[in-house]
Amino acid sequence: MARTFDVVILGAGAAGMMCAARAGQRGRSVLVLDHAKAPGEKIRISGGGRCNFTNIHTAPQNFLSANPHFAKSALARYTPRQFLDLVERHNIAWHEKTLGQLFCDDSARDIIRMLLAEMQNVGVKLELQTQVTSVEKTDAGFRVETSSGAVETSSVVVATGGKSIPKMGSTGFAYEIASRFGLRIIETRPGLVPLTLDPAMLERLSPLSGIAVPAALHHGKTVFREALLFTHRGLSGPAVLQISSYWREGQDIRLVIEPDVDVAASLKQARKANGRQAVQTALSTVLPKRLAQFFVEAQAMTGTLAELPDKAIDRLAAAVGDWTIRPAGSEGYRTAEVTLGGVDTSGLDSRTLQAKNVPGLFFIGECVDVTGWLGGYNFQWAWASGVACGDAA
Ligand SMILES: Cc1cc2nc3c(=O)[nH]c(=O)nc-3n(C[C@H](O)[C@H](O)[C@H](O)COP(=O)(O)OP(=O)(O)OC[C@H]3O[C@@H](n4cnc5c(N)ncnc54)[C@H](O)[C@@H]3O)c2cc1C
Repeated sequence: MARTFDVVILGAGAAGMMCAARAGQRGRSVLVLDHAKAPGEKIRISGGGRCNFTNIHTAPQNFLSANPHFAKSALARYTPRQFLDLVERHNIAWHEKTLGQLFCDDSARDIIRMLLAEMQNVGVKLELQTQVTSVEKTDAGFRVETSSGAVETSSVVVATGGKSIPKMGSTGFAYEIASRFGLRIIETRPGLVPLTLDPAMLERLSPLSGIAVPAALHHGKTVFREALLFTHRGLSGPAVLQISSYWREGQDIRLVIEPDVDVAASLKQARKANGRQAVQTALSTVLPKRLAQFFVEAQAMTGTLAELPDKAIDRLAAAVGDWTIRPAGSEGYRTAEVTLGGVDTSGLDSRTLQAKNVPGLFFIGECVDVTGWLGGYNFQWAWASGVACGDAA
């Protein structure tokens, strides 16, 4: 005989666990199923092991979606401050790193323990290493077939995340269920991912591998000012991960290296102070040495500063401050932090995350076509969508 629960949640990740605790607080009987060995594996590895669990500046414009208005309702009803209150109630020490990004002082595992405690307090049942084989609509609700038997429920919440990092068990399962129930999928692609370069460009830039430098990366009107990292595969670092969510194959990105430094002015100043120094030496005072060498060689500049007319200095500064690159591709889901696209929000109610045409079926977290910037926004969406759904499912 099938067991019965009010709510069955597929996926014990950030969104699923938050939703489970919230539904449990309303007195609903809740079962959370996950095929993994442990809950919240992505939380565990997030933020370099310290989980950037929210961003105090969270606003709808920090998210990408075919419908930029969709996330507003859930984000407004569960704010970063509310999540922080929860973190503080559990005595988890935290700090702000930069740009409003909040991290655990000790370990991301503190957040997992907190969510598990919240679930346990209200009697949520968690079953791991359980395969979900089918979800069918019945007269009374849904029947979920699993490797440990069938479960009947009035609400099914799909919280199985996106496709990123397949070796951690990401499957795209949510999109299959959504399609089966007639919901549309916005084409998925890797987001917050390093970009790769073609072999010729890679060879040119290979001496720069390992260099990190402040940069402004432009893609159309979108600009991110954060660190840029040259790697042996191409470009990475926060600025690149951010821009990767906007970039498409065949498009250019514009790099402004050291956007807060007036390179031309500092070279001219250096020429006045000591014209006998080599151009490369002078440029090395504002750029990492290897990067300075790269630009000087690329502009075929030799000799001392005194030998350089203003025009040549301006040309060198322009190369540093206005560099257009066409990435060959991205590293793909293998290293992407998130999946862009997903369950089309036009089929979901923005207050509850319930499928408009399938009462009782909900989609939350990363599987929905709402993707945050780097910096704690994706977890804030997971918490907020989990709460919105947990209050309704
Ligand atoms: C390396 C890395 C670092 C990150 N760092 C940050 C950060 O610091 N801050 C931030 O905001 N975001 C970060 N993110 C993004 C963040 O982890 C995700 O946006 C967030 O985890 C999404 O939550 P979710 O609950 O929707 O999905 P997930 O957390 O992915 O959870 C989905 C769950 O569903 C389970 N599942 C999947 N398929 C099935 C199936 N078929 N049957 C049963 N269970 C299934 C999975 O095992 C998993 O437990 C990072 C991501 C990565 C990869």
